[in-house]
Amino acid sequence: MFSFEKLYSMGHEEVVFFSEPSCNLKAIVAIHDTTLGPALGGTRMWPYASEAEALEDVLRLSRGMTYKAAVSGLNLGGGKAVIIGDPKKDKSEALFRAYGRYLESLNGRYISAEDVNISVHDIDHIYTETNYVCGVDKAHGGSGNPAPYTALGVFRGIQASAFKTWGNRTLKDKVIALQGVGSVGTELARLITEDGGKIIFTDISEENVQRFKNEFPNAEYVAPEGIYDVNMDIYAPCALGATINDDTINRIKCKIVAGAANNQLAEDRHGQELKDKGILYAPDYLINAGGLMNVSIEFEGWNDVKSRRMVDTIFDTTLDIFKIAEDENIPVSKATDLLAERRLDAMRKIQTTYLGKGSGHRFPGSKVRHHKI
Ligand code: NAD
Repeated sequence: MFSFEKLYSMGHEEVVFFSEPSCNLKAIVAIHDTTLGPALGGTRMWPYASEAEALEDVLRLSRGMTYKAAVSGLNLGGGKAVIIGDPKKDKSEALFRAYGRYLESLNGRYISAEDVNISVHDIDHIYTETNYVCGVDKAHGGSGNPAPYTALGVFRGIQASAFKTWGNRTLKDKVIALQGVGSVGTELARLITEDGGKIIFTDISEENVQRFKNEFPNAEYVAPEGIYDVNMDIYAPCALGATINDDTINRIKCKIVAGAANNQLAEDRHGQELKDKGILYAPDYLINAGGLMNVSIEFEGWNDVKSRRMVDTIFDTTLDIFKIAEDENIPVSKATDLLAERRLDAMRKIQTTYLGKGSGHRFPGSKVRHHKI
């Protein structure tokens, strides 16, 4: 299960197991790389079938965060945490406060945020015990729900892809196949509709389908399996990962794949296959980084304008990545990794100068949002 060889090969710095039997807390924090700053990434709660499975997940996810922060130009490292448990039965104030106390003991090397099955309410319990958490409720000086910022970033990525494909960023009269109309998908639909794009959508939740139909009466609904076969210009996966796979890749007839879902390519080779088919793939972990950008400024004092300005940079970075992919004749997915690795390498090289005692990275200030609940 655990091996240092594995940590060496994936590049992790630290993995911490936290346990508190009184509230049944079983948490693993993985700090992948802090070259650029403290490791920031969400905490996920999941009823993992085994501890080995939880460890595998947290190692993979934390490495992804290093790349995401690096390519997004953030001064943050990569980290992630998992709490093993059933979110319907095992959540309690004590569990999250115990977890918060453990995070405090890491002294800011890891900063948590929301991830799957962790709500703003849970974050507030963590925040009672530590400042090293973000995604805090707006009422407590935080940035609140990240979905609108994630959606804005995805929209900027779609616009950059449209610009590259059609020479114009507008989505007017373009058909966007939207898979998943949850928090991000719905916000994205608003931006697409305002820009004149047409939406064909699907979702497995009856409730979300109905809500979406009420808000977007002109959007066309298709059954979940049918979304890959519709006539579309852009496929926007906003539900789950690995939807570009051996089955779907020959069915999706579009010019652009760009959405919020993480890890959209089932395997790396699907990036090359999209390229061969002349389908432009927007770098998933860059264009969905708006939520991360948004929470990252909580420590300097969050505000909407600052956050949106930061998220807007996704347009230019997406075009930079397309250029690398073209210049080096590699798939966009590889070019995205390359841009992240180049930044990490460059920043490692400038860290050889001794700065004297007390100097160092300025993040997180932890000075602005210092009041407690
Ligand atoms: P969400 O849970 O609010 O919405 C997901 C929607 O997808 C739900 O309505 C769900 O019913 C639907 N869905 C699930 N499986 C489906 C399927 N097979 N076919 C069609 N629909 C299906 O999640 P979200 O916050 O909107 O996030 C969407 C995606 O973006 C996720 O993959 C998430 O990991 C990723 N993401 C989200 C954020 C964020 O800020 N929320 C940030 C980065 C990445």
